[in-house]
Amino acid sequence: GTRDEHPRTIFDEILARRIPSDKVYEDDLCYAFRDINPVAPTHILLIPKQRDGLIGLGAATAEHEAILGHLMVTAAAIAKKEGLNDFRLVTNSGPGACQSVSHLHLHILGGRQLSWPPG
Ligand code: 5GP
Repeated sequence: GTRDEHPRTIFDEILARRIPSDKVYEDDLCYAFRDINPVAPTHILLIPKQRDGLIGLGAATAEHEAILGHLMVTAAAIAKKEGLNDFRLVTNSGPGACQSVSHLHLHILGGRQLSWPPG
């Protein structure tokens, strides 16, 4: 977005269709596609189209409440559409949590028994 001075990421290339992706869902505000390196039978990434400074969840402010709520509700709808009764929603924030792309993304994981706690 215009309020975002952070370097662009590979997700901008995906949103611009310069890099192909396996689209699962799209609306005016967000885009969902299958992870290129899935860690579960269903592994979908859900991202805001406008990053608006959300390089990760750690950068969230009150200004982001609407998009964050939309992403959560959309994640639940995607899981249902994928036939997942049980699923996990993950967002890694920062290198200590193994975040590798600096554009907020929710991992929707399911299709197998998931263990807890994570590593
Ligand atoms: P993070 O590690 O930041 O939580 O998650 C980034 C995710 O993006 C990883 O699971 C990685 O596999 C995925 N990813 C990175 N590059 C691409 C790509 O070009 N296409 C797709 N579909 N997924 C990608």
